Amino acid sequence: EIVIIGSVNLDLVVTVPALPLPGETVLATSYDEFAGGKGSNQAIAAARLGRRVAFVGRTGGDAAGAVVRKALAAEGVDVSQLASIPSEKTGRAFVQVDERAENSIIVAAGANARLNADDVAGAAECVGGAAVVVAQLEVPLDAVRAAARLARGTFVFNPAPARPLDRELLGLVDVLVVNQGEFEVVTGEPAADDPSSMASAVARAGLPGSIVVTLGARGALVWHEGGLQSVPAPAVQAVDTTGAGDTFVGALADALARSEGLLDAARWAVCAASLSTLSLGATTAMPRPAQVAELRAL
Ligand code: ADP
Repeated sequence: EIVIIGSVNLDLVVTVPALPLPGETVLATSYDEFAGGKGSNQAIAAARLGRRVAFVGRTGGDAAGAVVRKALAAEGVDVSQLASIPSEKTGRAFVQVDERAENSIIVAAGANARLNADDVAGAAECVGGAAVVVAQLEVPLDAVRAAARLARGTFVFNPAPARPLDRELLGLVDVLVVNQGEFEVVTGEPAADDPSSMASAVARAGLPGSIVVTLGARGALVWHEGGLQSVPAPAVQAVDTTGAGDTFVGALADALARSEGLLDAARWAVCAASLSTLSLGATTAMPRPAQVAELRAL
């Protein structure tokens, strides 16, 4: 139903009163470990919403690899295309979260950097048969390109962390999901806060597919069939926004796989992402369908 090509990490999460400045040492108020990585987070978000999800990725041969594989499998994600590379370490994310839910993150790619086009080609049947194929940029571009070419269903691309991209790849994207910073890097157009300037920026970018720009607590903008619509986010008391963008993408994929239109899918995704900010850890508060439906009905 949904195939996600991407990264899986072990997230090492500390909470601190304030993020440390260069040269400063601060004591953490808590420490925990969670499965993370954009690909894995998005897979878990969609699986928790009831979709059948297969994950294509790589772990290292270390103990963390077994931990993250187990976490994905426990959510019902098909991990038959998640191979381990014995000589590599599993990816790690070093996450600091302060009292205002502000975060600062360092990612060490480890085995994620070894996912290549051949690996994705090895999963061709699965990728080609999926209603929705999702990729991000925490794995090599060649793997993403291979996925884009093999996808026959809707190709959803979340180019994060962002880098400038070629027109050939962008031309294969059905739905581009970016925050404002990613929009600027990927399209070379300045992102604006007001919808009408944003509409001109998106039009100037001249991409053939639809674009969803996420705006944090302000929700999202949806560019679809030549028009821009705004989707406000419900007000919540955010504790940790790590994984909010990933929950958005996973929930969008869920709705698209259920054949919802893009605007309705974005409304669903905004509600799911808002709910995901209510606990520490990227996947901890990822919601079930009933929770999203309840919030959307308000
Ligand atoms: P990213 O985390 O990728 O930069 P955003 O910050 O735009 O992405 O957040 C993605 C989505 O998560 C938003 O569209 C919104 O639905 C939700 N979200 C993020 N931060 C908050 C917040 N503080 N309150 C409510 N929802 C939020």
